[in-house]
Amino acid sequence: MFFLFGWGTQTKKFEGPTEMRVCRVCGKESDWHLHRHSKWMTAFLVPVLPYSMKWVHSCPECGNFEVPEDEEKSRLIKMARLKRAFKKGKVKRGEYEMEIAKLRRGGNWKSGRDL
Ligand SMILES: [Zn+2]
Repeated sequence: MFFLFGWGTQTKKFEGPTEMRVCRVCGKESDWHLHRHSKWMTAFLVPVLPYSMKWVHSCPECGNFEVPEDEEKSRLIKMARLKRAFKKGKVKRGEYEMEIAKLRRGGNWKSGRDL
């Protein structure tokens, strides 16, 4: 009996569009994309355990990218997941617009009632 282990297999998962930005490199305004890059340990060439994960936020026009830090990363993840859920019809428009407005303001958004 033998086992075949390996590591370094990389996967790239598209999380979705996030927010409109003007790219510093190409100068175009577009909905930037969030991707999750993972490195996996494999068993018999099948990825079984991720050991490294990196989030990359990129311009869909030219490929310019940035690696967001903690707080910005979680804001972008929430934004991409919310947009995906809205697109699939799992979130109603009113709720979507309210949540997106909160996320655009970095999570420090308060409604007029709270001020
Ligand atoms: Zn660009």
